[in-house]
Amino acid sequence: MTELPAATTCQLTVAAVIDLGPRMRRITLAGDPLADFVALPGQDVVLHLPDGQGGGLSRRYTIRHLDNQSRRVDLDFVRHGHGPGALWAESVQAGDPVEIFGPRGKTPLTAAGWQLFAGDESAIPAIAEMVSALPSGAHAVALVEVQDAADEQLVESDAVVDLRWLHRLTTAPGDADLLDTALQAVAIPDADRHAYLFGESRVVRRLRDHLHGRGLQPAEVSAKGYWNLGRAMRD
Ligand SMILES: Cc1cc2nc3c(=O)[nH]c(=O)nc-3n(C[C@H](O)[C@H](O)[C@H](O)COP(=O)(O)OP(=O)(O)OC[C@H]3O[C@@H](n4cnc5c(N)ncnc54)[C@H](O)[C@@H]3O)c2cc1C
Repeated sequence: MTELPAATTCQLTVAAVIDLGPRMRRITLAGDPLADFVALPGQDVVLHLPDGQGGGLSRRYTIRHLDNQSRRVDLDFVRHGHGPGALWAESVQAGDPVEIFGPRGKTPLTAAGWQLFAGDESAIPAIAEMVSALPSGAHAVALVEVQDAADEQLVESDAVVDLRWLHRLTTAPGDADLLDTALQAVAIPDADRHAYLFGESRVVRRLRDHLHGRGLQPAEVSAKGYWNLGRAMRD
């Protein structure tokens, strides 16, 4: 069992805000606590945000890049337009302070020779980081649902990766069955395999049930709902 790094609270500063495309914003945070921050590929941090009523709330974002030397971490935000997390990403500016707690997340990469990843755009940071960490010789299939080609990103890896972008076009996020259809068509080996499912909670449950129906054991599937259609995350 992989040992997970210990989580700490860090006071950081927003160093940069850039748009990766029309619907994804990268926010780079910087600060001395990142010099010895340790995280596994796909782990996330809890962002502590104001709730607008004098209190606070939490939202989780995947560590997209961590650079201990420059003491910086990139978080990529889906610009879905609702909720404190998305609204913070719209308004934040270089120099703003922010508190994070992490790393969080209990889904380390397994050593399976064949790996399957499926998720929507909220999972691009996790899928990209995990696929990039696969060793040469590993094989992976990655199914990623996005609105259209403008949301696609370059994902580098030493592994043999079959990366398929699925365009939902005018269908709303969380409402499409593109991942279901694509998953049904994936040929799954009989052993030495692992699947990671991240995205809208109901979609993730459907995909997990499909894989169990095809004979994958619970230990061969890591499934995590990242957001709930029509409902705010509990902080
Ligand atoms: C471990 C983990 C890692 C995550 N990593 C990332 C990441 O790297 N990048 C990222 O963008 N998100 C990531 N998420 C998802 C993110 O935490 C949720 O999308 C969260 O709901 C955002 O909070 P919010 O305040 O913007 O919206 P909330 O207040 O939670 O929700 C408000 C409304 O927005 C809708 N909504 C929430 N998320 C989305 C979405 N992605 N698309 C469309 N509608 C949405 C909800 O259905 C609700 O109606 C991660 C979640 C987890 C658990």
